[in-house]
Amino acid sequence: MKNQMDNMPGQSCLECPSCGASNISATSEVENFQYGDKYDAPTLSVSIRVHHCASCGFSFTTEEASELKHDAVCRHLGVMTPNEVRSVREHYGLSQGEFSELSKIGKASLARWESGVLIQNQANDNLLFLLTFCDNVTRLRERRRIQTDHSNSLTKNVVPFRPRFRALPQTDIDRMQREAERFELFPEAMIG
Ligand SMILES: [Zn+2]
Repeated sequence: MKNQMDNMPGQSCLECPSCGASNISATSEVENFQYGDKYDAPTLSVSIRVHHCASCGFSFTTEEASELKHDAVCRHLGVMTPNEVRSVREHYGLSQGEFSELSKIGKASLARWESGVLIQNQANDNLLFLLTFCDNVTRLRERRRIQTDHSNSLTKNVVPFRPRFRALPQTDIDRMQREAERFELFPEAMIG
């Protein structure tokens, strides 16, 4: 089965991994795959592009097919795909470091989600979802500004701490202890 994908731009760049020929055509095919290794693992379907070498007859897929399968898993789990995660951040023109600073999502985690190495859990996905709304980003920035102002005022208006009570050195405590042991309310000399 062939379709209009055959003449899509970029096709000529591909080389057959088997024979090295560049006479490659492509078809769109549905691939079914199981997600997970449990006995009741769901079967997911994804439409991928399969490339065919006219010289040796070898068929192969590219990284694009892996990404589409990863996206299908994300949709199955109900979380954002890597591109969607990236677009949340890029919508605000933030680098991964800046977005990490704002959201407190670890920069390394963010990079893994965006590249599809790992899939974010539901809680983090919810946070990402909330950050698609500009007013929530504004709230976070406002919160951070208040926290920064507060911590700045704490360090600027430092008042030296003057304890009301002087702490006694241990030698004084020992001396007072000895004096207390010697204390007699009515020294024997005074009695009778
Ligand atoms: Zn070939």
